[in-house]
Amino acid sequence: MTQIKEAPFIIVGGGIGGLASALGVAGTGRNVVVLEQAPEFGEIGAGIQLAPNATAVLKQLGVFDTIAQHAVFPKRLVLMDAMKGTELASLDLGDAFLERYGAPYMVLHRSDLHKGLLEACIADSRISLVNNQTVVSVTPVGGQRTELTCQDGTTYIAEAVLGADGLWSKTRPLFSDDQPVCSQYVAYRGALPMSEIQVEASMDDVIMWIGPNLHLVQYPVRSKELYNQVVVFKSFKYKEGSDDWGTPDELDEHFGPCCEAVRNAVTYIQRQRRWPMYDREPIDSWVDGNIALIGDAAHPMLQYLAQGGCQALEDVACLTELLSNHEGGSTAEVFQAYQQERLSRASEVQRSARKWGDIIHAVDPTTILLRDTIMKNHKPHEFGYVDWLYGRRYGAAPKTASSQ
Ligand SMILES: Cc1cc2nc3c(=O)[nH]c(=O)nc-3n(C[C@H](O)[C@H](O)[C@H](O)COP(=O)(O)OP(=O)(O)OC[C@H]3O[C@@H](n4cnc5c(N)ncnc54)[C@H](O)[C@@H]3O)c2cc1C
Repeated sequence: MTQIKEAPFIIVGGGIGGLASALGVAGTGRNVVVLEQAPEFGEIGAGIQLAPNATAVLKQLGVFDTIAQHAVFPKRLVLMDAMKGTELASLDLGDAFLERYGAPYMVLHRSDLHKGLLEACIADSRISLVNNQTVVSVTPVGGQRTELTCQDGTTYIAEAVLGADGLWSKTRPLFSDDQPVCSQYVAYRGALPMSEIQVEASMDDVIMWIGPNLHLVQYPVRSKELYNQVVVFKSFKYKEGSDDWGTPDELDEHFGPCCEAVRNAVTYIQRQRRWPMYDREPIDSWVDGNIALIGDAAHPMLQYLAQGGCQALEDVACLTELLSNHEGGSTAEVFQAYQQERLSRASEVQRSARKWGDIIHAVDPTTILLRDTIMKNHKPHEFGYVDWLYGRRYGAAPKTASSQ
């Protein structure tokens, strides 16, 4: 039998973006319902990097201390040549970095981040979490309200809706008929207990090994109890509409010519599951009246700048700030202001992620020579070129006068 339920504020999707949004919105005194399709709230077994533009938001949401207990605070971001085994450049994440951005760079297991957000949601009586609710349609009705239909026949009527339902969002078709764009790259990833892996790298570094059409990222998570590795490569066997590309055989072919440290690392990569890498083109609207998109539903990006989750958290900080400051204003006005503030910024990060991918995966020897020469001249304390990305958008601004 069809059930009709009313709710003032509904969030579709209980991923990192959805749960953080629930905390932010509830913090402004509103009651929120989160509809999640999975039978349980959770995240996959791999790591995530959070730059200061995101850890600052965790602080604002009041969950930083709990989440940080399981995190690792690396001392350096290091770029290595995957073929030669030599260091290309590094960024120091120590005191000067912390002082400049006002929040740390942190790496952690996704489930530790998600659990910290989930526990805070459970503890907040204004947040209702509902599982097994696959939203199949989102329809504005009469200007002020939105009808959400779920696969099991349940219908929700909401005064405001946030679509936080990720890359394959069911809310996004209200704004665009675009489709995810396949990059023809594929990732294999996972975090292993230290006892099951031989790690040659420093436990204080986040390392990105780069080479033609491939890269490998390594860092410890969960208080250094686990080691996270992600390998990514371009498949030359890509076939649209097929899953038979980016296979483990291709993985071995790609990484075969790499230096010994990378070849050794790749032996520890689990091969049961592959993640084809998608993004979308930026769009020019995410907001229609009382409906808005957030996180990957709004701006899915390739992961090369490690910013997809960070941008979702920036969305949350922006929306929360606007909801708090526009006490008398309508939700539609607040959502418009949110779009105004966030759309160009997130689109820029989306486009830059693609460009950074082209740089790190360069194949042409002249391009590689130029890239490596520029990188080798970079000093670990030169922060000027990451200010645009890591500088806090919400709260205190970064110090940009000098890049030293
Ligand atoms: C290999 C890789 C590495 C990455 N590394 C980083 C990194 O280091 N740092 C970083 O910041 N970002 C990183 N990202 C990006 C980051 O994972 C995403 O940007 C982030 O997870 C987006 O969160 P989200 O909540 O918007 O979407 P999602 O995580 O996709 O969550 C969407 C949620 O909505 C639910 N849902 C979907 N459809 C429906 C529906 N119809 N009804 C109800 N529920 C629904 C889903 O089950 C899910 O729980 C990486 C991505 C990849 C692929």
